[in-house]
Amino acid sequence: MTKPEYALALDFGGTKLATAVVSVPDGRLFGYQKARTPADAGAQASLELILNTAGKSLKESGIPQEKITRGGISFGGPVNPDGKHVIRSMHIKGWENYPLAEVAADRFGFPFRMGNDGNVAALGEWFYGSQGKPHYFMYIQISTGIGGGFILNGEILQGQGMAGEVGHQKVQYVGEAAFPCACGSKGCIEAVASGWALARDAKALIESPEACSVFREQVSKMGEISAKPLIEAARRGDSSASEIVDYAFRCFALSLSNAIVLFDLEEIVIGGGVAVNSWDLLEPILTHSIPEFLPTEMRGKTKIRMSHLKGTETLLGAAKLSELAG
Ligand SMILES: [Zn+2]
Repeated sequence: MTKPEYALALDFGGTKLATAVVSVPDGRLFGYQKARTPADAGAQASLELILNTAGKSLKESGIPQEKITRGGISFGGPVNPDGKHVIRSMHIKGWENYPLAEVAADRFGFPFRMGNDGNVAALGEWFYGSQGKPHYFMYIQISTGIGGGFILNGEILQGQGMAGEVGHQKVQYVGEAAFPCACGSKGCIEAVASGWALARDAKALIESPEACSVFREQVSKMGEISAKPLIEAARRGDSSASEIVDYAFRCFALSLSNAIVLFDLEEIVIGGGVAVNSWDLLEPILTHSIPEFLPTEMRGKTKIRMSHLKGTETLLGAAKLSELAG
């Protein structure tokens, strides 16, 4: 049996943060903690909160402190390829060039390695969800935004810190009609199919005379105008909602096809709340559309599946990443 090695894992997102002690060989979590990121309170307050939350994980894990010898951090924004410095946060000001890995190392007394959240989640899914087998692997998640990363020959594709920004590949021509994206560009897949993009479309639909009654019913039943009632209405055959959801998911299929063409991927895993909760609608569209978007020779060669790690892929990836700490 493999000797257990333990790492302290930190998942530092713009809206949520989570920490745990992870048994690296098998991905068991101990002392799991989560909290809302106090984004409005600024960089210092969110830093204090995640370090204190991680301290709580250490204490409550029940793992003797001397067995926890390294740490990994997933950060919600671009990270320097050295794995030590944040380039900037996508959500909170004041993180520019911050040496977060060193600050965490000073606090806990062991080395840390940090990565961008999409890349770290990809590492977690590749190692724990796909047993580290595929050589050409992509993970993508649809949640509030769209993010992900590539694991090629066992390594995170990093570029200069920004590689694998799968949410910002173009699926619409960048003209007047393309949807504006949070990244400052237009026509990105995130601006079409993410949770925030579908919420925007749901709001526009409810104000339009074209909204069908099924959609209106779901909005009043759920008490929110978001991706949720839009997807549920589409599931129930509402034509106004289906038109939006089908378009978004076909665009998503297009973005996956582009990735397949670029990297000849063996496997794509799809996670994130929006994708997982609408898998019954998303999967048939991917199955139908992706071959249509691919060159004949590339059809049917990429396995596509849903993530089964229930959102822990990021924490798990941070634990796996800690192997590079030092
Ligand atoms: Zn974008």
